[in-house]
Amino acid sequence: MNALKGFVTQTQHWTSEQWRIYHNEHIPALIQQAYNNVPFYRQWFDAAGIKPEDIRTVDDLIKIPIVRKADLIAHGADFRAENASEYAMIHHHTGGTTGTPCAYDMDRYSWALNWALKMRTFEWGGYTYGEDELGVMAGGSLIPGARGGWKNRLWRYVNNYYSMPASHLTTEMLEQYYSYLRNNHVRFLRGYPSALTTLAEYIREHHNVLPMQAVFTTAEMLLPHQRKIMEEAFQCKLFDTYGCGDGMGHATECEVHGELHVCEECSILQIVDERGKEVHDGEEGEIVLTALYNYGFPFIRYAPGDRAVKSEKKCTCGRETKMIRVLNGRSSDNFKLANGKILNAFSLPIEALTDEIFQFQVVQEAKDKVSLLIVPKKIISNKRLEDLRKLLEYHCGEGIQVNVMIVEHINVPQSGKMRFVVSKI
Ligand SMILES: [Zn+2]
Repeated sequence: MNALKGFVTQTQHWTSEQWRIYHNEHIPALIQQAYNNVPFYRQWFDAAGIKPEDIRTVDDLIKIPIVRKADLIAHGADFRAENASEYAMIHHHTGGTTGTPCAYDMDRYSWALNWALKMRTFEWGGYTYGEDELGVMAGGSLIPGARGGWKNRLWRYVNNYYSMPASHLTTEMLEQYYSYLRNNHVRFLRGYPSALTTLAEYIREHHNVLPMQAVFTTAEMLLPHQRKIMEEAFQCKLFDTYGCGDGMGHATECEVHGELHVCEECSILQIVDERGKEVHDGEEGEIVLTALYNYGFPFIRYAPGDRAVKSEKKCTCGRETKMIRVLNGRSSDNFKLANGKILNAFSLPIEALTDEIFQFQVVQEAKDKVSLLIVPKKIISNKRLEDLRKLLEYHCGEGIQVNVMIVEHINVPQSGKMRFVVSKI
């Protein structure tokens, strides 16, 4: 782990030319491994008429048809290399935010590299290992002990953390978390945006502020109103992260903040148009990942269903990685409605109501029925509710029955990850 930490500390200062060489160097062996030892890619390449020799550089990747999450779900076992036992694989699964759980394997090197990259983000926020305590507020997957041995080893390495489970939160628990963090002078937090927002709200209401040095958010979409509330309560900047375990994609915010630095070490992250071609700077497209190391379970030209804008900016921190702006909402957050319209729940301008709404969830009850559940902060007027209903009606279009409902709370699933968009179809 220390060697990898040293590696990623160095590579953060690489030039774009160094990244190009590094990526190109990894391509031929990865493609050979996939073709020779992985049933899915052998068939995929054959069906597309591609020979491994055709793919020598990053520029050649466009020849490979995009592999989708649905392919992984349908053919999961065929993604596993016939020689996977050589690579010390660890079993993983995703679920939570996408709503479609899928299983995959990751070798220990990729796993350790991913963690080295996460640790580097902590360092960008000023966190020092062995010295600083980290408050972790999340569900099972971010909390040590909830999963297997490797994660625990890492957490022993991080070693100094305070765990704040995010499921079934009560006022008493929030007060307990607040008191611990304050009394022990904890200056760093990590967790799901929805969970940390709940804590931030509680602090704003009962204690005003609890200053931190940095807050690291991960695993869910970070919505603009959540960032605002957390920055007010914790009096510091947020370091948000985009992560995709299946595909080994990472991008993180640096000290300058704003857009995300792609972690070029673990995968090639491309943003492509509907023909699979990389978009120009400043344009939006779909994220496609090619993992560089995961030979036992390769991800090549893999689209996990996330969208982003390829940034035209160079970060003023001086690091020359690709920069992206991840867009709110995955493709699975889009509802197809009976009238043919596609509703992206994240496009609803709900953050404009930050001062009035504590939480919300958009639910597609049926092809022609959409509900907006809201937990208001204070009493909300009938006129305001009617405005919200009209807004939803406008976004859904004709022939769709819309409802706005006030609820006391919105259920958080066992994973602890809040879902803003739920389809019952
Ligand atoms: Zn930067």
